[in-house]
Amino acid sequence: MFVVLLGAPGSGKGTQAKIVSAELGLLHLSTGDLFRAAVRERTPLGMLVQDYLDRGELVPDSVTVAMVREALSRQGLMRGVILDGFPRTLAQAQALDAALEETGKRIDLAIYLDVKDSVLIARLDSRWHCPNCNAVYGAGENAPLKRGTCDRCGGQLTQRSDDRPDVVRARLDEYFRKTVPVIEYYRQRGVLREVNGDQSVKDVASEIVAAVEETLAQAHR
Ligand SMILES: [Zn+2]
Repeated sequence: MFVVLLGAPGSGKGTQAKIVSAELGLLHLSTGDLFRAAVRERTPLGMLVQDYLDRGELVPDSVTVAMVREALSRQGLMRGVILDGFPRTLAQAQALDAALEETGKRIDLAIYLDVKDSVLIARLDSRWHCPNCNAVYGAGENAPLKRGTCDRCGGQLTQRSDDRPDVVRARLDEYFRKTVPVIEYYRQRGVLREVNGDQSVKDVASEIVAAVEETLAQAHR
């Protein structure tokens, strides 16, 4: 079972991937986590990634794809995988399909967390971080009890530079430019499911779980 989770920054994709993978016993494969682990463990790919980051360049598709392939080959006996943060571009989606095809597998389900632009911007604008204990806060149910202060340790909250309003719009524009073709790609293959991401975290999670279970049931029919 291979599930791709697509969603803009601020769509709650990472949170959902964690909840849903735990609930369904699927491996949560986040490319962000893979990059950080490879850099920390100084693997050959990790050192390559570090070179790009040191130069302030984007990690090229070929390196990202190699890292995901390596992780998938270690996947072993897991029931399936939820991919989070990958594929981000059409080229990555095609490379992923080619890699899976070699092992007789394919993407069974692509879930797109659809969230209105105005909601994304509001969520990203309200994303704060505690430099003291690394707690992360957001809007609504994830907001700190007292504005600007960490609930856990009382530290003063700061905003990540890429969550500042002027940068947020540019991040979203870039996301949609690159990822809309990925969404269309999965739609054409008949595996796309759109989930309304404006709902509560719990409701979004149960819709995703239902979609995955439905796909599993169809596969076993
Ligand atoms: Zn704190």
